[in-house]
Amino acid sequence: MATKRCPNCNLVNPGSGVTCDCGYSFSSGTLGRPLDLSKPGDPAPMTAPHASNLPVRVLIWLLVVAAAVVIKVALRR
Ligand SMILES: [Zn+2]
Repeated sequence: MATKRCPNCNLVNPGSGVTCDCGYSFSSGTLGRPLDLSKPGDPAPMTAPHASNLPVRVLIWLLVVAAAVVIKVALRR
C-alpha cells in the first residue's frame, strides 16, 4: 500500500488514510479539526478544584495521619 506524507506535519500516513493525525484532510487538502485534541467551541473551564469540596472528615483524617507520622518520627530519635 502506498503511503502519503502529510504536507502539514510531515507525518507518513497510509495511502488509505483520509485525514492525518494532525487533522489535515487529504481529500479536501485543508486542515480540519484534530482527532483527539480538545473539542472546538468547548472552552471546558477547569477552574473548579475539588480540593475545596473535600469533606471535613477527610481533612481531619489526613491531619491525624500526618500527626501520627510526625510523632513516630519524633519518637524514633
Ligand atoms: Zn499531519
